[in-house]
Amino acid sequence: MKAILFDFGGTIDTDGVHWNEMFREYYDRHHLRIEKAAFDRAFVASERAVLAEPGIAAMDFRQLLTRQFTIQFGLLGLAGQEGLAERMAGECYDDVADTVAASRDLLGAFAKRYRLGVVSNFYGNLGPVCRGLGLDGLFGVLVDSAVEGIRKPDPAIFALALERLEVDAPEAWVVGDSYERDIVPGKTLGCSTIWLKGRSWTTPADTAAADFTITSLGAMKSIVMP
Ligand SMILES: [Mg+2]
Repeated sequence: MKAILFDFGGTIDTDGVHWNEMFREYYDRHHLRIEKAAFDRAFVASERAVLAEPGIAAMDFRQLLTRQFTIQFGLLGLAGQEGLAERMAGECYDDVADTVAASRDLLGAFAKRYRLGVVSNFYGNLGPVCRGLGLDGLFGVLVDSAVEGIRKPDPAIFALALERLEVDAPEAWVVGDSYERDIVPGKTLGCSTIWLKGRSWTTPADTAAADFTITSLGAMKSIVMP
């Protein structure tokens, strides 16, 4: 095996917590009680809206989170809460930075043995986000769906990363928290797959495409570096 392709959102940044759950956490912490269906609608709409933000391609993670919370606040009728969206974004960013810091040694060890890449349905700013988190030296390729015009679960986005790393599919691991978007296309291409099964808002009906299932990135070590 020569390469590891990682998902970013819900995988590297939160170690298995889906972003719907992640955002929700800060509303709960600040005692903002929002009905689940309304929150889910605002989450999906904010994900779509942020893609059209002016200047998105240069935003770092803190700026991105501030825009996402601010858009959600607007959709949830919370726009009058002065400064709260910024404060929640700051807390969220600090938690992400801690999670990434905890995984950095592990990723560094993998980088010594493998070519590493990220394949993400992102917003066009995967580069600035990874740089801001101190991850930029670890990955040989960052593939951002908004830059490439291909989105997961299309296997072509993984094929693009493999081509840029000059690795054939059977020589690569695909690691991600989404069974449908990461594991299924990875398996379709002929990669070996590691499903990070964390806290998610949905559960797949079958999981046969996952060669391994883990609940934290730390568990990868015994699989890819036995
Ligand atoms: Mg993900």
